[in-house]
Amino acid sequence: MSGPSATWSVENKTKPKLALYWAASCGGCEIAVLAIDEKILQVADHFDIIFWPCVVDGKVRDIEKLPDGAIDVCLFNGGIRTSEQEYMARLLRQKSRILVAFGSCAHEGCIPGLANLSTREEIFNTVYRDSVSTDNPTKVVPQTETEVAEGTIHLPLFYDTLRPLADVVPVDYTLPGCPPEAENIWEALQAIMDGQLPPRGAVIGKQTTVCDECPRTRSEKKIKGFKRIWQVIPDDTTCLLEQGIICCGIATRAGCGAKCPQVNSPCIGCHGPNEGVEDFGARMMAALSSVIDSKDPAEIERIISEGIPDPVGMLYRFSLASSLLKRSRLPRRQEKAEAGQPQMAMAAAKG
Ligand code: SF4
Ligand code: SF4
Ligand code: SF4
Repeated sequence: MSGPSATWSVENKTKPKLALYWAASCGGCEIAVLAIDEKILQVADHFDIIFWPCVVDGKVRDIEKLPDGAIDVCLFNGGIRTSEQEYMARLLRQKSRILVAFGSCAHEGCIPGLANLSTREEIFNTVYRDSVSTDNPTKVVPQTETEVAEGTIHLPLFYDTLRPLADVVPVDYTLPGCPPEAENIWEALQAIMDGQLPPRGAVIGKQTTVCDECPRTRSEKKIKGFKRIWQVIPDDTTCLLEQGIICCGIATRAGCGAKCPQVNSPCIGCHGPNEGVEDFGARMMAALSSVIDSKDPAEIERIISEGIPDPVGMLYRFSLASSLLKRSRLPRRQEKAEAGQPQMAMAAAKG
């Protein structure tokens, strides 16, 4: 990236500065910002949007030249998978007074974090060698340095493990959701603009569960088996979990208005764990175990293995990278290499 930023004009210098950045993510959170509709004009009016590579022609080298803390607020979406993303996380942390982990990818790793079930080598083999649509007869895979006639080309180092933003740099606030709801984004932006933010470290959002927002009727949950949503037509008034459909509302932070259960679809946990839930999957497994109507270990085992064929995909879909386990076990040599990643990251990112 090079060249001056078009947004850095003299008349903007008194406005608070806002930055947005997109690391290991699908980019949906950047689109979600636009879901606040015409209110984006108020945001543009209030802030000098100093860096938003998806939208504004800002340059990294201009950010590097800023004094520390010169950016008032940075909304950072995405986890940290490469040395470039780690460099940008550290740079934006240094330059920002308030750093917000914006959306599930930055907060918990989200869907990109499911790649923590594989090693870098396995991912590269799938993407660059083994997939049926790949045509790569010489088995080329990306290298961090490649010599060409014009000089050396640098690519970021791809890590074995995706980490949530808070595992790499201190984070001031978290806005949950995949993506965060437009109304929650707007509330957070208003709180920032009005200086009404909660204490540092807080998740900006509700402290109850999706169940508390869900209009379905609940009574005692006792089930003899779990069903996938495509196996039944649920009745549209009774709690889905009572009907044997795995609904994660019980462990998920409220804030969406229980959107999915209201349209006969179970909550899959996209708002992340509710306050006090350290490991989303473990909390869900404990909740599911408590509703099984059996005391026979063999029957319980059958109900779980038949009803939850993919425990990680169902219960750690958004949170594997921030769970207690974080990833599948790496071969010992790779564990050592991972431990040395921060130093390699800075070197690789600087080229
Ligand atoms: S949180 Fe969801 S919508 Fe946002 S970038 Fe990640 S995958 Fe996309
Ligand atoms: S488990 Fe799901 S369906 Fe049941 S009350 Fe909670 S959110 Fe609603
Ligand atoms: S119901 Fe659950 S999965 Fe659906 S939007 Fe709300 S938090 Fe996300």
